[in-house]
Amino acid sequence: MDTKEIFKITEIEKNTYRILELGGNYLTLLLGTKKAMLIDTGFGFYNSKKVVEKITDLPLIVVNSHGHLDHTGGNYLYNEIYINKNDLKTYSRYEKEKELMIETMKKRYDKLKKEYIWPEDFNGKEYVSKTTKKFIPMEDKVKFDLGDRIVEFNKIPGHTLGQMVAFDYQTRILFSSDAVASSLWMYYDEGISLMDYCNNIENLKKYPIKYILSAHLDTKFPMEIIDALQATIKARSAAKSRVFIHPRNKHKALLFKYNTENIKGFDKISSIPRMNLIYAPSLSTD
Ligand SMILES: [Zn+2]
Repeated sequence: MDTKEIFKITEIEKNTYRILELGGNYLTLLLGTKKAMLIDTGFGFYNSKKVVEKITDLPLIVVNSHGHLDHTGGNYLYNEIYINKNDLKTYSRYEKEKELMIETMKKRYDKLKKEYIWPEDFNGKEYVSKTTKKFIPMEDKVKFDLGDRIVEFNKIPGHTLGQMVAFDYQTRILFSSDAVASSLWMYYDEGISLMDYCNNIENLKKYPIKYILSAHLDTKFPMEIIDALQATIKARSAAKSRVFIHPRNKHKALLFKYNTENIKGFDKISSIPRMNLIYAPSLSTD
């Protein structure tokens, strides 16, 4: 397999790249006049740094949107990584679960008779031992100046406690990672209540958002996806949800599917037929 198949590179706007890693994780590369920024490092089964270096030789700032392995696995390739201080614990926990994670993925791919998403000569032990060289803990709101390009990070706890989203003032794209999308997973970590999450995403409406890009989908979400998420959370009930068991950690959650035709006006501005909310019953106390 050559690098073209492993990383699919798209320049979505001027100096704005989405790098899709095999396995379905988007890495984002933003270029300013003085610095470049990489948001997330993917699983890191392959070398994303080589891809980045083909695009730019500017000094690179690397940020993890949150601590999950599909966003931090390639951290070992880079010298230092920014992450929200609240997600350091999440990262450590996922480091310990790396082996189990690969085992679970392997089983799933075997069952589906799908090719593995790692190289043929993949050495699991070596991969597990690779770790982040240095973390720089971030506060809950941070602005980076890449040179004529400001990128502002905001903490939106919910998916994880230190989940960060990035607003790029140049393109007016909100890079929402796993915090805002048509599917929302809300049962990791200690969690925050669904209603607190609803209030947090309300704050994102202050930005003049052109569209929203999440970390695992190609979809350009309109700003109104925020309203759709809030409506979905408000409409949920345990009775209308079904039990969902996580394939790896066996944690029990609830899955609530909500047809967007129920959300006033949203079906007209978006081609997204359904919202998916996977949530821990304990976060749904209101
Ligand atoms: Zn995640």
